Amino acid sequence: MAPVMLAPSPITPTVDFERDGVQHGFLRLPYSRDDSAWGSVMIPITVVRSGTGPTALLTGANHGDEYEGAVALFDLAQTLTADQVAGRVIIVPAMNYPAFQAGTRTSPIDKGNLNRSFPGRPDGTVTQKIADYFTRELLPLADLVMDIHSGGKTLDFVPFAAAHILPDKDQEARCFAAVAAFAAPYSMRMLEIDAVGMYDTAAEEQGKTFVTTELGGGGTGRAETIAIAKRGVRNVLRHAGILADAPPADGQPAEASRWLDMPSADCFRFAEDSGLIEACVDLGQPVRAGDLLARIHPIGRTGLAPSEYRAALDGILAARHFPGLVKAGDCIAVVGTVEH
Ligand code: CA
Repeated sequence: MAPVMLAPSPITPTVDFERDGVQHGFLRLPYSRDDSAWGSVMIPITVVRSGTGPTALLTGANHGDEYEGAVALFDLAQTLTADQVAGRVIIVPAMNYPAFQAGTRTSPIDKGNLNRSFPGRPDGTVTQKIADYFTRELLPLADLVMDIHSGGKTLDFVPFAAAHILPDKDQEARCFAAVAAFAAPYSMRMLEIDAVGMYDTAAEEQGKTFVTTELGGGGTGRAETIAIAKRGVRNVLRHAGILADAPPADGQPAEASRWLDMPSADCFRFAEDSGLIEACVDLGQPVRAGDLLARIHPIGRTGLAPSEYRAALDGILAARHFPGLVKAGDCIAVVGTVEH
């Protein structure tokens, strides 16, 4: 098969990835529209480089309504100095910047879900162009890739860092070592229910050490989960040998993290009814197979029995639907099994 010849990316970085020091700039993506004929989407980026060492690529707000990563990375970009670094740190606090500006999961420009748009297209929509730039320009620069997610407006999670089971066991071991270094309260061996088009997959297919997270949700960030993100990012940079500073006094030791597993699709519960959700278990609480996770009350009239949703296996409640009303098809609960 002849190689597919792709056009160059239309995105221009205003930073030089090979230059030492701290640079704050943009990925400039031309976007011609009614209110700006020759306008651009300006995605903030920081590059901190010094000496020789590995490259870390750090991203937040891949989904625009997830805030722990954005807060931790805007903060890191503003505070990290070149003399703290051996190697290179590329920081993009708000990867899907149009979605982040709008406070929505997907882009208001093209409805693009960036984490379902990989590997992307240089001649596609704005969201596909961002994906393509990461696939062909930024990922190849990186050794370590960390993408900080949370639940967004519709999900809430116990705070965990995660990696995937991979065919390359050496790569998988590198990924789980980085997850352990992140030292979130929970660490997850993750099963993806919808892996096609994910940034994770693009990074893993290039052989990168890849860490993702789910650190909370509900369309906001909490003091606790933001602190976990800020600490975790530095922990992983230290683990990679890029940061040489001492861990903070409040640094959480890796052994404090509880390992969770998502062994099968039985972990997930999806609503088959629409209505008013009654949570029967809170995040982090233990459940046994058969335990009631939630009930959904019909809201059209009184006098109707709620439908019941039960755990299929033993574990803890690792994720839940956040808004009080649900629609058929919504993911309402995820049970993670606890590794002993
Ligand atoms: Ca997400």
